[in-house]
Amino acid sequence: MKDYLADRTSLIDASGIRKVFALAGSLKDPINLSIGLPDFDVPDVIKDAAITAIRAGENRYSQTAGDGELLEKLTASVMARTSWPRPEVLVTSGVSGALLLTFMAVVNPGDEVIMADPYFVIYKHVIRMLGGKCVYVDTYPDFGFSAERLAEAITDRTKLIIVNSPANPTGAVYSQGQLKDMAEVAARNDILVMSDEIYDLFCYDGPCPSIADYYENTLLVRGFSKSYAMTGWRLGYVAAGSEAVKRVVEAMARIQQYTFVCAPTPFQKAAIAALDYDVTGHVNAYRKKRDAIYEGLKDSFKMAAKPGGAFYMFVEAPERFSNATEFVKKAIENNVLIIPGNVFSERDTHFRISYATTDEKIAAGIEVLCGLADG
Ligand code: PLP
Repeated sequence: MKDYLADRTSLIDASGIRKVFALAGSLKDPINLSIGLPDFDVPDVIKDAAITAIRAGENRYSQTAGDGELLEKLTASVMARTSWPRPEVLVTSGVSGALLLTFMAVVNPGDEVIMADPYFVIYKHVIRMLGGKCVYVDTYPDFGFSAERLAEAITDRTKLIIVNSPANPTGAVYSQGQLKDMAEVAARNDILVMSDEIYDLFCYDGPCPSIADYYENTLLVRGFSKSYAMTGWRLGYVAAGSEAVKRVVEAMARIQQYTFVCAPTPFQKAAIAALDYDVTGHVNAYRKKRDAIYEGLKDSFKMAAKPGGAFYMFVEAPERFSNATEFVKKAIENNVLIIPGNVFSERDTHFRISYATTDEKIAAGIEVLCGLADG
């Protein structure tokens, strides 16, 4: 058979997650603790705004940078959140779209990109596909990203530092102090920071601090998928405050022009309504889920401190299993779907559990997992 594929396709390895889902395929009504999206649906007012936009004929391309009204509103929201006088904003096709555009605009072959390990999967694979090199800062066992470790990872090839707080897959939220220290390291070395804040509203123990507050050369990346449960609507945005980062956003817009063209227009209209929607009720419900799962697992598993955000925990697999993948296989045989940590890490010692599901499923999942750990 002729091989039609480009070499870069071999750099994407989805085997870990595929194995899990192949095993899970046979389950009838699994306790699914693997899901990366909220268990509530898009709020009705936001759905209505999308339907109204479609009926009103808002079905054509928007400007490359985004719908004018949405851009104004996002600009005001970024200005209220940062000290940036007039940020440059670009609406993207999901945060995934923003990540691809960022890496395409910034990473040359051979460039190094620093990120915490564990990391969100997309970073590793897209950077590698572009010929970049991922430099992992090991953050086990507490998943804090220390400025000292960051400083040690910097070389003269470092092009970008990724900060993801609240983090997927660990749920870690970096403190103001941590972010300030990291910002100082980035500033000292004059390196661009990309702050992926897609979970910013899911922050349970206080407001979500941002490295953008301490370092102007931060590319702020935020989204709508998680906050309003609209993962299928594909909307995200980036913002820049300094002239150097605005140049990056302008380059991203040029790449968007020839790739995504624009984010989906009717959903951009709906996003204007979403920005006025208060998600506090959902966040309060998720705080309770986080507490329930932490309390439920902490006596049977070795856990880091209670994670402060997102809707994940990254838990060490019991020692009697040779690695986390073996534990995950056992959990799946017992009808509980979780993800082995090596999907998000260079290690295979932990597993990711998502509590974005019903309280009943969480309780049932805790029972099975503790049974396996204690058994
Ligand atoms: N960044 C992080 C940390 C995520 O966890 C996700 C989704 O799981 C994304 C980005 C991508 O989100 P989107 O649906 O907006 O593409």
